[in-house]
Amino acid sequence: MNPHFQDLRTRLAEIDDLRSAGALLSWDQATYMPPGGALARGRQLSTLSRLAHEKSIDPRIGELLEALAPQVLELPHDSFEASFVRQARRNFDRSRRVPAEFEARLSDHLSVAYQKWTVARPANDWKAVQGDLEKTVELSRELAGFFAPFEHIVDPLIDFSDQGFTVAKLRPLFAELREFLVPLVEEIASRPRPRDDFLRRPISEEQQFKFVNEIVRGFGYDFERGRSDKTHHPFMTKFSLGDVRITTRAREDNFSEAFFSSLHEAGHALYEQNIDPRFEATPLADGASSGVHEAQSRLWENLVGRSRAFSKYLQPRLQAEFPAQFGDVSSDEFYAAVNSVGRSLIRTDADEVTYNLHVMIRFELECALLEGSLQVADLPQAWREKYKSYLNIEVPDDRDGVLQDVHWFGGTVGGAFQGYTLGNILSAQLFERVRADEPSLDEQIERGEFNTLLTWLRDHVYRYGAQFEPSELVERATGSALGIEPYRKYLQGKFGALYQL
Ligand code: ZN
Repeated sequence: MNPHFQDLRTRLAEIDDLRSAGALLSWDQATYMPPGGALARGRQLSTLSRLAHEKSIDPRIGELLEALAPQVLELPHDSFEASFVRQARRNFDRSRRVPAEFEARLSDHLSVAYQKWTVARPANDWKAVQGDLEKTVELSRELAGFFAPFEHIVDPLIDFSDQGFTVAKLRPLFAELREFLVPLVEEIASRPRPRDDFLRRPISEEQQFKFVNEIVRGFGYDFERGRSDKTHHPFMTKFSLGDVRITTRAREDNFSEAFFSSLHEAGHALYEQNIDPRFEATPLADGASSGVHEAQSRLWENLVGRSRAFSKYLQPRLQAEFPAQFGDVSSDEFYAAVNSVGRSLIRTDADEVTYNLHVMIRFELECALLEGSLQVADLPQAWREKYKSYLNIEVPDDRDGVLQDVHWFGGTVGGAFQGYTLGNILSAQLFERVRADEPSLDEQIERGEFNTLLTWLRDHVYRYGAQFEPSELVERATGSALGIEPYRKYLQGKFGALYQL
């Protein structure tokens, strides 16, 4: 192999090693670290991240990319080498454009803003963080500025996590969604909600973890190359393609919490565990974008986990394992309960029908803040107005209003939310395509057979990792561009039947 390529590969593998070591330290921090470790852990993480950043902007990487550019043109677009160099180029350009001085200023500011938010949210104290958020908006604008020219100031921030998407592409997509979601929520709200008392019957944490671990093992999550541990805010993390971990939390009086968050994180993990092993320690050993990643978690959590077929598979297992809690519950009752729709204040508690309205509100407010058409001081009021207009709900305080998400207080403003909705839309498009290719999919799920589904996803999405841009990957996997039609059909079909609309 070309010595330049080999040199580049070795350098990028070292950066990957530093980042993976940091990820392991973060995982430990969120699971087992005793409180006394916090101070040193912060320093250790920042050292690793600084070393990785320094290596990633080494001018030698730029020279190697230049030297390889003409050779890559000769190679097929989907070859390992061409994809590797393409992705390495994108990462290098991004790292180089942002001055180290700015990175340090941003990270110092955000760690203060985050600390203050952890106190301000429970205290319902918007004034305590308003000034910090003003500063974050300024810094977010400055960050976007390094990527000028652009059509809209949020475009570069969106492109970091959902490559190829822009405000101009997202606005019509969201408008289409809003057009059918707002009336759908209205219609459902006029119907009685199903019984769901049995979801609150107590089950010990240990029993819940044991049960859901068996379910995700059945999906194909490989415990030889992963594990599941307890944490406060569930996440998936990867140290190598052979070590992809999930975390979960449980509440004794809430079956859905551990169960569905584990299915969600397992969906993210199935993606990473099934990336082509040749991509190990390269920029290709990653998801294609945040939207594509979220599509996998939502697919396993919702399209599978909240389906009628899956409830039929699950019911005898629930009854055998938890007779006191589920002995008198039919699979149809379980199915209706885990698909109960209601207007709620909190995004992370939202059902499938209302979820995207929460996301849209944030996306529109982010755009307005960065454009300068909305001042931070007016944000809580703007938040209330949007909740009234999209969800017909009054927001009683800022704690469960504008202060609820960590995103704007632990990170920049702009580009952090659209991936959730892109993921929902794509999950339905992928599932529709699998069903067309495998007409007996529902019967298989009802029998607890997930291998056909996993194999399809591996062959059409997972194995490619970050080899292709999201739009190209979607086109290759489903035969068409990303569109909301499958998602609209899915939601209207499922909830129309459940609520007899
Ligand atoms: Zn997720």
